[in-house]
Amino acid sequence: MALTRRHVLLSGLSLAAAGCVGRAARDGDTLARVKPLWPNEPVPAAPAARRAPLPEIRRTPPATAVRATQSVGGIAVLSRARWTRHGLASRDVRAMNGVRQITIHHEGWKPVTFADAPTTFDRIEQIRQVHTRDRGWSDIGYHYIIDRAGRVIEGRSVAYQGAHVSQNNPHNLGVMVLGNFARQRPTAEQLASLSRFTKALTATQGVAAARVRTHREFKPTECPGRYLQAAVEQLRRRRQLG
Ligand SMILES: [Zn+2]
Repeated sequence: MALTRRHVLLSGLSLAAAGCVGRAARDGDTLARVKPLWPNEPVPAAPAARRAPLPEIRRTPPATAVRATQSVGGIAVLSRARWTRHGLASRDVRAMNGVRQITIHHEGWKPVTFADAPTTFDRIEQIRQVHTRDRGWSDIGYHYIIDRAGRVIEGRSVAYQGAHVSQNNPHNLGVMVLGNFARQRPTAEQLASLSRFTKALTATQGVAAARVRTHREFKPTECPGRYLQAAVEQLRRRRQLG
């Protein structure tokens, strides 16, 4: 059952991502496969690969060597080992070399109604798979994820540049709040966690509160959705952000 549900979810997420980046139709592949081959007929050339090959994944060390929780400025952060056994792919990896700004995103797929850890971890792994397999990135694009229960979860290591604001990834730390906030409201737990965590990040990374922005404050985009955008602006007015 779990495998079936996961497969359906993953298919949907892949399709959603394909809608963003575009993809050639695969009809040519199908025709090549069903065409009967006669003994004297030349074998047609294999169709060109339509997608980038899977990035090489190296596994993280055994679970016994991985800490389940870390601390960022006193805030507990669940290690990525809780949701994936995969590490960073070996291609297109760039060091962060210091954080100068922090960007808040939403996930932006279908609304998230679950808050339990296992389903949340499954969802984050699905996002990683879309980012690595369909988009060709070296890892999940965001450095941290805040789920519906307010848990802070490690994404890509902050040692590496993320992939979350095109043309603006260097020195930019990405925090994704799980949900689609064009269609649903963030939970009180998410906002409390976002407030505490952005303050911890600015303190530990030496970044000014004014450098904590939402994705749409960089460039025109729906992200992080009108409800989270309004909530972030309210936190900022109350000096509860960064
Ligand atoms: Zn975004």
